[in-house]
Amino acid sequence: MDNNRIKIAIQKSGRLTEHTISLLKKCGLIISHTRNHLIGYGENMPFDLMFVRDDDIPGLVQDNLCTLGIVGMNEALEKKIEIENLEKAPANFEIVSNLDFGQCKLSFAYPDDSTYQDLKNLEGKTVATSYPNIVSDYISKAGLNISVTQFSGAVELAPSLGKADLICDLVSSGQTLKAHNLTEGQTILESTAVVIKSLQAMDSIEETWVNKLIERIQGVLQVKESKYIMMHAPRASIDSITNLLPGTESPTIIPLEGTNETVALHVVCKENVFWETLEDLKAKGASSILVVPVEKMLM
Ligand code: ATP
Ligand code: ZN
Repeated sequence: MDNNRIKIAIQKSGRLTEHTISLLKKCGLIISHTRNHLIGYGENMPFDLMFVRDDDIPGLVQDNLCTLGIVGMNEALEKKIEIENLEKAPANFEIVSNLDFGQCKLSFAYPDDSTYQDLKNLEGKTVATSYPNIVSDYISKAGLNISVTQFSGAVELAPSLGKADLICDLVSSGQTLKAHNLTEGQTILESTAVVIKSLQAMDSIEETWVNKLIERIQGVLQVKESKYIMMHAPRASIDSITNLLPGTESPTIIPLEGTNETVALHVVCKENVFWETLEDLKAKGASSILVVPVEKMLM
């Protein structure tokens, strides 16, 4: 492997893989795969992708074997707390961007027939989880006396196997919990996929590329909801019209031939625009309203 190339750790095969590759492609990266699929080479930028298990991603960035990683916040935080507890020093990576996929939550869940459905009254009970560091941290900060036991898979089975009184696990739809006769309780983390970056010093070329990619990722996220809006508007209503549009910067005002009262107003709106908003604009005197999608954005 070429050491001048910047390595990004991504999930080899799982819930994050497709979204991650699609995001990197939208950032302009052209990826060619090797046959064994463990490494993807960036053809037009100095990035190479390491396809690994998601659990290994934070560790690879921590050890500076990869400069960047795309992983669930749950995995990133679990590793961060583990390192900080073990080494009594801050982890060697940071979260630089929250992404718009991989949504899930880490929640407690109780057996349907248990007498407790709340974290209170759990004195001396045991919780099974794959996230012992996040859960222990939460329990100690909340001043609770609950023991934590680590389960690597099938955490939902722990109560029926008699290994725990409750669990703390990732949920998205709640179907898995229901199938195991568990009821969801408190959520301790709302997670999405995130970009993590090594805190190791980089040379300036590497740093420029890393920053460029992070900036493009943020641009891709912004563009999804953004719209370019054009309309004719009474000059007197410019302020009240721009106030109706969420997330806009100063509008561009263009004079119209043959009138001083009406102008053309163009604006980039960083949130989705609904029919109700267009109706409100019309009520303020706007006409010929056009809403067009934004393809790329660099702020
Ligand atoms: P690997 O083989 O890479 O270890 P895995 O089975 O641990 O895969 P996946 O199930 O693919 O991991 O989940 C990857 C990430 O997707 C999770 O860490 C989490 O951030 C996110 N995620 C989103 N929804 C869910 C869900 N319903 N259950 C579990 N994880 C979810
Ligand atoms: Zn995993």
